[in-house]
Amino acid sequence: MENLPFKILKLNIHDDCPQELIEPTQAYWELNEELKFKFNPEQIKNKFSLNTDVSRYGALEYETYCFSCSSEMQRTARSRGNLNGIVGYLKSGNANLKCNECKAEERRKKRKEKKEKDRKLREQEHRKKEESIERVKLAVEEKAWRRLTPFEFNVLKKCLTLDSFFKLTQFYWNKFQSRADFKKLFTALKNIADKDLLLLEYEFDHSLGFNKTINYKYIYQLKEKFEYDYMPEKEEKNIKNGINKDKSTSSSHLKLKLTKNDLNQHPDAPKYAGTITFKEEIIIKPNVQYTFAQWERSNNELYFTLMPIEDIENLPAQKRLYQEPQELQEVITEFFNEMGNNLKF
Ligand SMILES: [Zn+2]
Repeated sequence: MENLPFKILKLNIHDDCPQELIEPTQAYWELNEELKFKFNPEQIKNKFSLNTDVSRYGALEYETYCFSCSSEMQRTARSRGNLNGIVGYLKSGNANLKCNECKAEERRKKRKEKKEKDRKLREQEHRKKEESIERVKLAVEEKAWRRLTPFEFNVLKKCLTLDSFFKLTQFYWNKFQSRADFKKLFTALKNIADKDLLLLEYEFDHSLGFNKTINYKYIYQLKEKFEYDYMPEKEEKNIKNGINKDKSTSSSHLKLKLTKNDLNQHPDAPKYAGTITFKEEIIIKPNVQYTFAQWERSNNELYFTLMPIEDIENLPAQKRLYQEPQELQEVITEFFNEMGNNLKF
């Protein structure tokens, strides 16, 4: 064990050790060349005809050194387990003992590194913020609101006039009265932020499993320069055509109650028939992915709904429900289940 950075200095025998137990205590701590204890406790008891345990009367002082600065370190093993531990550690080849100064130095270094890392992170965040403010300024100069849909334009207008995320959500909740429609607000906010007109603040919602929008911010230049009376293109056209396509009176959701055809019992007669008057215009657009669902209710009536997938969540375009990726399936299924629970149409 010549290469092991370990040297026994001396055995300390406690003052309260009875005279007759000094020799057994010395034997208890005796090590061979391999730094293994020569006798096990049982052998000591037999050797000295003892019925008492001598482990508590001694402690072994040893010397090792700091792997970092090579300074000598004197330590004491107060139990055989303690000593076996340090010897095993040194023999393992992975030992990296450090003196108190080196440990303190290491802690200082780590603190400094962390400070530096935090500073860089703050700088980076600051830069990111500056950049996004630059983009927002540019968006104001370019009047990016003119590229918004009429609904998004109105949402942005509300953001500026209400000046409160809480009031904004309250306003649209009262206007829509349904969760599916209410979600349009958040899609719109995201699209407005994508055009660099608003900065959104998010918070991770653990129950939902995704980032929730919790606030919006804008620069004062936007409030000053925003064209409050501007008519987004689609609305202008609609007004010219004499059709009011304000989003509050149009919908992208088709919801139908399929009433049973009680009038005609002929085998070829349709099972469900009836008439329906919609209270608002329903717009179904080409090249938009829709999802549909049907529920059976009392009196053998059916409820049918068709809506753009993007209204459920901001989701990418996909195929059939069972072919959709798991996450999307779950979102749609959960959404429809909840809808089936509160059928109001
Ligand atoms: Zn050291």
